[in-house]
Amino acid sequence: MKKHLFINGEWRETESYSSLRSPYSGEVIAEVAVATEKETQEAIESAYQARNEMAKLPAHRRAQILETLSRLLEERAEEAAQLIALEAAKPITTAKAEVSRTIETYKFAAAEAKRIHGETIPLDAARGGEGRVGYTIREPIGVIGAITPFNFPMNLVAHKVGPAIAAGNTLVLKPASQTPLSSFFIAELLQQSGLPKGALNVITGSGRVVGDQIVVDDRVNMITFTGSPAVGIGIRNKAGLKRVTLELGSNAAVIVDKGVNIDRIISCCVTGAFSNQGQVCISLQRVYAHREVYEEFVEKFIAATNQLKLGNPLDPETDVSALISPGEVDRTLQWIEEAKQGSAIVATGGKAEGNILYPTVILNADPSLKVSCQEVFAPIVLVNKVETVEEAMDLVNDSRYGLQAGIYTDNVHVALDAAEKLHVGGVMINDIPTFRVDHMPYGGVKESGFGREGLKYAVEEMTEMKLVVWNRN
Ligand code: NAP
Repeated sequence: MKKHLFINGEWRETESYSSLRSPYSGEVIAEVAVATEKETQEAIESAYQARNEMAKLPAHRRAQILETLSRLLEERAEEAAQLIALEAAKPITTAKAEVSRTIETYKFAAAEAKRIHGETIPLDAARGGEGRVGYTIREPIGVIGAITPFNFPMNLVAHKVGPAIAAGNTLVLKPASQTPLSSFFIAELLQQSGLPKGALNVITGSGRVVGDQIVVDDRVNMITFTGSPAVGIGIRNKAGLKRVTLELGSNAAVIVDKGVNIDRIISCCVTGAFSNQGQVCISLQRVYAHREVYEEFVEKFIAATNQLKLGNPLDPETDVSALISPGEVDRTLQWIEEAKQGSAIVATGGKAEGNILYPTVILNADPSLKVSCQEVFAPIVLVNKVETVEEAMDLVNDSRYGLQAGIYTDNVHVALDAAEKLHVGGVMINDIPTFRVDHMPYGGVKESGFGREGLKYAVEEMTEMKLVVWNRN
């Protein structure tokens, strides 16, 4: 399977292609175009030329394109899930769930396209403002450069493509090198959905080369990036006056208060920690359990973890499959080793078979260890005992990151305190930090980024507010 670039509504052959391998089996699954500088320039120019046509497209047409896309994806959902499983080693049941969410994300985007509006301003509230009528309108920002990660190759692309089209913008999309197939698939469906030529361009190649060109180009008005903090910070530093939204990583935590029914939360916590091999930006990485429930939590959590089935992502029975690359296996084994040296206890897992890292539970981990204070982005979770929930809240906040946090408690006062004190973008009461549905405002504080996704909020980021004042005097 040879995958070409998608520029100005056409599939474009290029000089060089690189082999895309399955992270699980190592087999070549496609030959993917490597864009040259010239082709990247063409993709940007094509988005730039299409911007006026897109901006003029009425809301009902933009909504219709997104509704059609959503319907076409529903018809080909099985095929889409297979692609995700192949290129990302995402277990097929989780890949299917991602496709269902993507269908919904585009439906939300279609709905948002119809409710983009401004507000009236009571100008006469100011002395000298009498006799004037003021209102705001929201206009498309123009050309958006979208750079996406490997871990949700279809739905995180939808979180950029959906609101960008809803708001009447054009895009140059640079998907992660390991997972371009999902983006090409969406481009094909959008081509069939009646999207004007040039409104979406998909360009593949190394992030450092292709991504960099998009970030510094003056024709691009906004960069929307989801990925690692290191790359995100670099992008922000280079983007100049462009609008930038950054959805970055975290070391998400949950607090388990005394009195909580442990049986009711175990399965959710296990899913939150190990789904997609822990390669989720809000994956549960740290558990702080009150000393009264700690022993019970640890015992039941380990027992449930040991039930997980490891294997081929295409097998519907598989819970945990390969990490995205062999390098990631080496890195995570080193981090586990460091934890052992630092007197933490590896209660289960801690080893790898091929590219599969066993679901790993670490107890008694010091906050200075990498598994505590950095983003593990792997099936590793640590469980620590705390004396009080206040201590746990301090530990949750003692992080460079702040995407989402969760707390299980039966005490309404503790819950209200947590909602106030936890320094994150979203607090989940009686849930794992991993909870997300696609229309809720989603984003972080500190090194987890800034700006919000979730269709309504992304549309706000992707539009420019303009004020109109009529003088009737
Ligand atoms: P990554 O290495 O930062 O890559 C993300 C994207 O940036 C890829 O398309 C990559 O291209 C590109 N890129 C790399 N270097 C670049 C540069 N110098 N300039 C411009 N673009 C560049 O992240 P990843 O490993 O794919 O994804 C994992 C990270 O994403 C984790 O930190 C995770 O927490 C975060 N994430 C955050 C959210 C959220 O919503 N907050 C959601 C999902 C994931 P190449 O693939 O070609 O290198």
